[in-house]
Amino acid sequence: MTAPLLEVSGLETQFATRNGVLKAVNGVSFAVRRGEILGLVGESGSGKSVTGFSLIGLIDPPGRIAAGSVKLEGRELVGLAPQELRAIRGRRISMVFQDPSTTLNPVLTVGVQMRLALEAHARLSRREAQARAIAALERVRIPDPARRLEAYPHQFSGGMRQRIAIAIALLHHPDLVIADEPTTALDVSIQAQILTEMKALARERGTALIWISHDLATISSIADRIAVMYAGRIVESGPTAAVLRDPRHPYTRGLLDSLPAMAPAGTELAAIPGTTPALDHLPPGCPFAPRCFAAQPRCVEDPPEVIAGARGYRCHFPLGAAA
Ligand code: ADP
Ligand code: MG
Repeated sequence: MTAPLLEVSGLETQFATRNGVLKAVNGVSFAVRRGEILGLVGESGSGKSVTGFSLIGLIDPPGRIAAGSVKLEGRELVGLAPQELRAIRGRRISMVFQDPSTTLNPVLTVGVQMRLALEAHARLSRREAQARAIAALERVRIPDPARRLEAYPHQFSGGMRQRIAIAIALLHHPDLVIADEPTTALDVSIQAQILTEMKALARERGTALIWISHDLATISSIADRIAVMYAGRIVESGPTAAVLRDPRHPYTRGLLDSLPAMAPAGTELAAIPGTTPALDHLPPGCPFAPRCFAAQPRCVEDPPEVIAGARGYRCHFPLGAAA
């Protein structure tokens, strides 16, 4: 049994707001092994992005990591000095965002940006940097890469810009890539292509991937394991096939039932009733209880985290768990 590449335990990230403390991440624990693809899924506002940012020290005041631990191969990252975190970001852990313009500077050519990204962590000659940039663009299937290095971001389509952001994230052969809704802004066919290619790249290199998405269909097509997030907590996790076949948490069941591909043809999709709770006004106990078809009086008490083999869930009345 090898130690995980990344081990997150009891992570709490909070924002001080006018209304009090908002617990965006409220006791999150999970691990990612080398080469594994973990899908983090949940409705908008459930704390997925804040989780991703917390892992690499990108939480700025009024936000702070209030508790917990993030270990990369046993080394604690929470509390590291900014320059130590910078040395890890981009080189050991890198991030791909929904909007590639977060990564790409509009006034620099792609070639200059890639060279700057390379020089941040490696000493290379111009020629070496150029060769590595070309190879990186080839890997993400940018046609005619040597010539395209001279172009500016706006001269590429949205899908191509995202490929370039992915190429930059992969430049230093990181151990872990955190991809936060990287295909959400793209049209469906481009989404599918990028998903497939990124999975292949991760597999080829043994790169671990945390793929964040609000879309369970996307997550199920890429992830080895799924973690379902609700109101700042992971409410269910396990191997993708097992979670899809036989979800334990009523929230996961609800997400599945609202997927077009899962419903028998001609039937109506079942949306989960109600809306996600405000994180600064959470109900007591299970935050999903007010929307849950299986809720009972006991759900006003905090459900314990149950670990059963490769699966975990936080629910007093899990579905099908007796089997
Ligand atoms: P998701 O990515 O799952 O859609 P986020 O992680 O972006 O959700 O947000 C989780 C919660 O944290 C939301 O309620 C959001 O309003 C809050 N939040 C995120 N960033 C900040 C911030 N900089 N200041 C205050 N609240 C924030
Ligand atoms: Mg988000």
